[in-house]
Amino acid sequence: MKKIKNNMNLFHSALDNKKIVKKVRASTLASYRWCSIKAWLQASGLEIPRNDNLSEGSIIHNNIAKARMMSPQEKKFNDIIKSYKAEGVISRPWLDGETSIVADGEITTHGYDDIKVDNKNRVTLIEYKTKAGWGIQATDFMPAQFQTQLYCWIMEPFLLMHGYRWKGAWLVYLKRGKDADGNVIYHPIGESAITDYNALKVEADIRKIFKEWDDASRAKTDEERRRILVPPRRWKCGICLRYSPEIYAKCPYQQGVRESV
Ligand code: SF4
Repeated sequence: MKKIKNNMNLFHSALDNKKIVKKVRASTLASYRWCSIKAWLQASGLEIPRNDNLSEGSIIHNNIAKARMMSPQEKKFNDIIKSYKAEGVISRPWLDGETSIVADGEITTHGYDDIKVDNKNRVTLIEYKTKAGWGIQATDFMPAQFQTQLYCWIMEPFLLMHGYRWKGAWLVYLKRGKDADGNVIYHPIGESAITDYNALKVEADIRKIFKEWDDASRAKTDEERRRILVPPRRWKCGICLRYSPEIYAKCPYQQGVRESV
């Protein structure tokens, strides 16, 4: 019989490989698709100060909540999801696949920006993303797409328990601007439908990321870590240096090798 355990493990920390990371935010996990190394350091607890762009997600969410009344079926669904939140987050255990009752850790989210629920209990998740410019690049889209799929994966068991299912998801892009009085306003840029949510594919992606991060944390040298971790496009490091110097200072790719990559 398989041993029953509940040790809440996700992966060894990048900052101290004796420490096990037990919780990771879906947004941090999704940022793997921006830079694996940055996401690995942040998931290990290297927090960067919250900037205006991050907190603006909450402002937009609050504006949406005030701007439209939910339909009765949307309100009912929203109340169900709220009832599963603890300390403001909803989470799903990450299982190791060896037994059906091992909880190795949790992947968490604060929830969604908005939802639509139709009269067949099909739910559409809506996420808003803000940008300084008008363009949407693949580098913007890929982490946002993965984040949305992670949200669907985290909440899916709660939907199924209550007779709902995902219809799909929408990513809506907004450009930040200012009105004549200097108040921040948002202009719609465009939207993308996420139609390819597949729980098994999401789980395979999560498993691959945790394995890569765990291997990198257990490696003895930065040289080994550079062979394990997938590097980003070089121009992202300039952004990192400017806006996240704490991450840049700990990055194994900034130990004299980027010049030769
Ligand atoms: S410096 Fe570059 S490689 Fe290192 S964490 Fe930042 S973006 Fe990633």
